[in-house]
Amino acid sequence: MANDVVTMDKIVALCKRRGFIFPSSEIYGGVGSTYDFGHYGVLLKGNVKAQWWRAMLQERDDIVALDSAILQHPRVWEASGHLAGFTDPLVDCRTCGQRFRADHLGELPCGRKPSKHPGETDECDLTEARDFNLMFETTIGPVKESGSTAYLRPETAQGIFINFKNVLQFSRKKPPFGIAQVGKSFRNEITPGNFIFRTREFEQMEMEYFVPPAEVDTWFRYWLDQRMRWYLELGIRPDHVRLRAHESSELSHYSSATSDVEYLFPIGWSELEGIANRGKFDLTQHAEFSGEKLEYFDQASGERYVPYVIEPAAGADRATLAFLVDAYDEEVVSAQGAGAGETRTVLRLHPRLAPIKVAVLPLVRKDGQPELAREVHDSLRGLLQSEYDDGGSIGKRYRRQDEIGTPFCVTIDHESLGDRTVTVRDRDTLTQERLPIEGLAQELARRVSVPWSTPKLALSR
Ligand code: ATP
Repeated sequence: MANDVVTMDKIVALCKRRGFIFPSSEIYGGVGSTYDFGHYGVLLKGNVKAQWWRAMLQERDDIVALDSAILQHPRVWEASGHLAGFTDPLVDCRTCGQRFRADHLGELPCGRKPSKHPGETDECDLTEARDFNLMFETTIGPVKESGSTAYLRPETAQGIFINFKNVLQFSRKKPPFGIAQVGKSFRNEITPGNFIFRTREFEQMEMEYFVPPAEVDTWFRYWLDQRMRWYLELGIRPDHVRLRAHESSELSHYSSATSDVEYLFPIGWSELEGIANRGKFDLTQHAEFSGEKLEYFDQASGERYVPYVIEPAAGADRATLAFLVDAYDEEVVSAQGAGAGETRTVLRLHPRLAPIKVAVLPLVRKDGQPELAREVHDSLRGLLQSEYDDGGSIGKRYRRQDEIGTPFCVTIDHESLGDRTVTVRDRDTLTQERLPIEGLAQELARRVSVPWSTPKLALSR
């Protein structure tokens, strides 16, 4: 039976145990809320990003790619409003020396008496709230002098706006068209936490879609729909994802409408992606600060205008966490034979997202089985991420593949040597099927690419 047993602790433990994600600098005691991705984590997050690129580039003609620098001219952040306004309100406690987000005091524990909130005990001595800028500051060049201050980008979007003219010139696109980018961003969050949900260094997947001003509302709705569909097609359970429109008091200075895609994490409904109507704010600001004209000239109509922008801004790490949470399952194996009656942990990841698509397992480590298994592994790896494993009992090897979400296990047994067929075990149904080695790679690649929906839906009914 599938159940919703997932907690953040279980995800953290599985990620550590199976080599997805480790706390960073662990041998030195760790460094606040930063994480390192291990082998399977790299493959999984890589697949999440690849699916995003696929939706943005491969499946359409109106979006081009960009990879802009993390360090940009400091004026970029003046123009964007980040230098003046990318702040959270911060208070210090003179007694315990801790710092708190002034707007989160009611949710945070006091530094001395964790059962109370900051400011609730007689000992607490809080300063007035002051604005704390979330941008990491650094210095360009060997000398720290005036004019050498730079910032690690807090979002990838501005790299897109400052390249608007370059892209327009080479790509021969006209609005509506988009520029997409995936890359690291940095925010000196006052209270990071909840594993990779909120960290100070993270990856974003952002696309700026430039449209004629009159069409902006239509395109806003279009992108809400597209982005929801992306999560659903990658297997997120429909009752665990929703769109939430921002109240006018929540809107950023640049936005006239924003909706968040939210996921039901173990910590409750939380933002996965923001989709904003940014109007012409960014292009206008950069035109003013740089002196460059950032507009579109339509040669056919003679019309000149500053396009409006719709921005779907997603987090690659947060999306990876959502896919992990949604996929996590524990199940008592009811099938006959080895492992029946045991509880197994299984990641029911969409096959396209699974870090390993197929594991090749010789039943025993003798009689020519490892050699044939290696041959099969070699024949699969050109098309699919395949893993060879001959260590330990077959039951243990299945469990291991279940925990990293491998959709297919191919077992080589005595019969395989005679008739060149193998057993293909399905991660979700646990059915075993005999298939010929000939054509196996193509068949499994086909199964990975067909539409898929999570068996957790059927199993939880
Ligand atoms: P939040 O309200 O959670 O701080 P935000 O509204 O500031 O997020 P955006 O600026 O809209 O976030 O960034 C777009 C996306 O980037 C977010 O939806 C999220 O997926 C991701 N993101 C933002 N900040 C972080 C962070 N500190 N750690 C991990 N991912 C982040």
